[in-house]
Amino acid sequence: GDIVPGNSHFDTTKGHIEGRRALALDCTIDEAKQTQLEIPFKGNVDPKKLEKALQEHSERIPFVIVTITNNTAGGQPVSMQNLREVRAIADKYGKPVLFDSARFAENAYFIKMREEGYRNKSIKEITREMFDLADGMTMSAKKDGIVNMGGFIATRRKDWYEGAKGFCVQFEGYLTYGGMNGRDMNALAIGLDENTEFNNLETRIHQVGYLAMKLDEYGIPYQRPAGGHAIFVDAPKVLTHVPKEEFPAQTLTAELYLEAGIRGCEIGYLLADRDPVTRENRFNGLDLLRLAIPRRVYTNNHMDVVAAALKNVYDKRESITRGVRITWEAPLMRHFTVQLERL
Ligand SMILES: *Cc1c(COP(=O)(O)O)cnc(C)c1O
Repeated sequence: GDIVPGNSHFDTTKGHIEGRRALALDCTIDEAKQTQLEIPFKGNVDPKKLEKALQEHSERIPFVIVTITNNTAGGQPVSMQNLREVRAIADKYGKPVLFDSARFAENAYFIKMREEGYRNKSIKEITREMFDLADGMTMSAKKDGIVNMGGFIATRRKDWYEGAKGFCVQFEGYLTYGGMNGRDMNALAIGLDENTEFNNLETRIHQVGYLAMKLDEYGIPYQRPAGGHAIFVDAPKVLTHVPKEEFPAQTLTAELYLEAGIRGCEIGYLLADRDPVTRENRFNGLDLLRLAIPRRVYTNNHMDVVAAALKNVYDKRESITRGVRITWEAPLMRHFTVQLERL
């Protein structure tokens, strides 16, 4: 019965919320749904939506969660100003704020490059300033921690710390290491340090921008401007003949794989899952093909191949008229294990 407002909750975060019979309330700015609109901080929380939720349901809201960067909306950043506004609104209603922080360093990079007053601040200073606005954070470290696996929770609240401790031993391991071993924690410490260096982020985010530039050349529509870690192709704008009930983004993902063995990922109607109450498919969000680019793995020549393969699919888009049908799905977070049939 709880409600957890935030900017487009990450799929597994939403899965955890819905799995506990609570509601993830998406308060992202409306502009995030217009893929062709270029604004600097498309991941922002809409303060009006957040305030309305708190006015109407304050007693059901345990905390506010902000995902930095807003992964689901296309790796789109949240501005420092917006984080401050969220903090102020949460304070007004006495609610804690959590950051879902997997791509926090990319968020800090965009604040430095796009927000007034931050050009001369280091990524580490900006990171500090962001997290000063949170009561706690969760981190999937295999993203901006540049490690194979692992993660952590951090909080300035003693009661949360004490509460989490109990679960730690039960589900993860002893307090000081959770489920990680010493070697992995050392790697994570180095990863966090290196990835809060400007040059490292600049190189990575430029590669994402390079792929975007190639897609511009071919006229392929994606969530603009290019985000921090991936390009998100606007599938219904490409496969215009595939009805939404046949999952255009999933179809495009399969077509690209057949074309050149490139593994994208649907961030769309399948991932949106069914409404927990009505069990209807949720078609109200975006339907995107995500091309996430691993850090320190590919060259720009690889990006040329990805773009050329996508162009080949794009060129024959008119002939793709049917999509896919679900033959089996799990009751929650279905997109990880769904089975599909081509129509
Ligand atoms: C990847 C990610 C998660 C989930 O982390 P896992 O390590 O895959 O369980 C949660 N939130 C965000 C924002 C993420 O990017």
